[in-house]
Amino acid sequence: PMFKLNENYLQLNQSYLFSKITKKVDDFINTNPDAEIIRLGIGDVTRPLPATVINNMHKAVEEMAVKETFRGYGPEQGYGFLREKIAEIDFKKRGINIDADEIFVSDGSKSDTGNIGDILGDSNTIGITNPVYPVYLDTTIMRIGKTEQIKLLVCNEENNFLPEIPTEPIDVVYLCYPNNPTGTVMNRKELKRWVDWALSNDSLILYDAAYEAFVNDTEVPRSIFEIADAEKCAIEFRSYSKNAGFTGLRCSYTIVPKALKAKVQGGECVSMNMLWGRRQSTKFNGTPYIVQRAAEAIYSSEGQKEVNDLVSYYMNNARAIRNGLLAKGMTVYGGDNAPYIWLKCPNGIDSWTFFDELLNKCHIVGTPGVGFGSAGEGYFRLTAFNSHEKTEEAVSRMNTNL
Ligand code: PLP
Repeated sequence: PMFKLNENYLQLNQSYLFSKITKKVDDFINTNPDAEIIRLGIGDVTRPLPATVINNMHKAVEEMAVKETFRGYGPEQGYGFLREKIAEIDFKKRGINIDADEIFVSDGSKSDTGNIGDILGDSNTIGITNPVYPVYLDTTIMRIGKTEQIKLLVCNEENNFLPEIPTEPIDVVYLCYPNNPTGTVMNRKELKRWVDWALSNDSLILYDAAYEAFVNDTEVPRSIFEIADAEKCAIEFRSYSKNAGFTGLRCSYTIVPKALKAKVQGGECVSMNMLWGRRQSTKFNGTPYIVQRAAEAIYSSEGQKEVNDLVSYYMNNARAIRNGLLAKGMTVYGGDNAPYIWLKCPNGIDSWTFFDELLNKCHIVGTPGVGFGSAGEGYFRLTAFNSHEKTEEAVSRMNTNL
């Protein structure tokens, strides 16, 4: 008999989104070779890494060249020098008690949000928003198949693109705030409702805070652990990709609190921190030393300032796009506490029709909302990660030509 494959992979939605965008843009360039295209589509950053990050990395490279300071395999969970700074500056300084041994340094939140299912049972019901960052949905399908266990939580204009507390039983829910793609945020009260729901239902919240650095509003929590007792029901994912420009360098971390326990069949309580530690040390050999030194640099006072400047740079772009669209009378979400602007396509047209219109009339590339799920139909995502100059030019083109 022939070997078998994981047929769950065959149930994945074919991701035509970015290839379809590339084809449309290529066709447009072929017929309009002189048009200057502005890309507000992809979620990758454009500013170079901060100087302190580069300096620390240079030093680490030199250490690797010398017998006495060379490093081989490091601790799978990350070096203490980085984990202690994370605990101190990202948490204790903001009044949140997280210990260094609750922090797992990794090579990206894509890996961690994708791999976390390894320590979850296959019989859980899983809540996933629609629209969504596709990794949660696709990795869940890879693991358990496209089953009734996957419960889509629709986010639309009626609920301001924030999911409602489930009325049916859900064991595990992925939440991401500030949100990709909608740019929406949950305030403290709204997030507390989710934490209270999870605690009273013995459910787990997988909280993706990849965009926490973009929060301006003091009513909006930057960590789920700002909410009382969240350490008993949540895992949080953090990334250096967007705040510090690490999309190419690769570094992130995940908080698995020691207070987070799961009951097993015999009634015994098992630590999720212990389980994730076991998973990581078995399947992952650690983030490179040089990269962890690069990440450490952002916790110096100079590094903190540089990161704040990067975030402000992109948030100025977000504001420019948001205000430009609002001034045209368009319906817009996000862009105030997130680097994403989620706009309602004008005159009831669909996401792809608006894509074509924006490309043809303004020579701007964005992302059709329907690419993030069926509830994204009729919406469109623009990102704040291009340069000031190009973003201003894009806003002016939309103002004149849309
Ligand atoms: N989570 C969300 C919501 C994202 O939008 C992204 C990247 O776009 C990631 C995680 C992945 O981040 P990383 O670069 O750390 O893998």
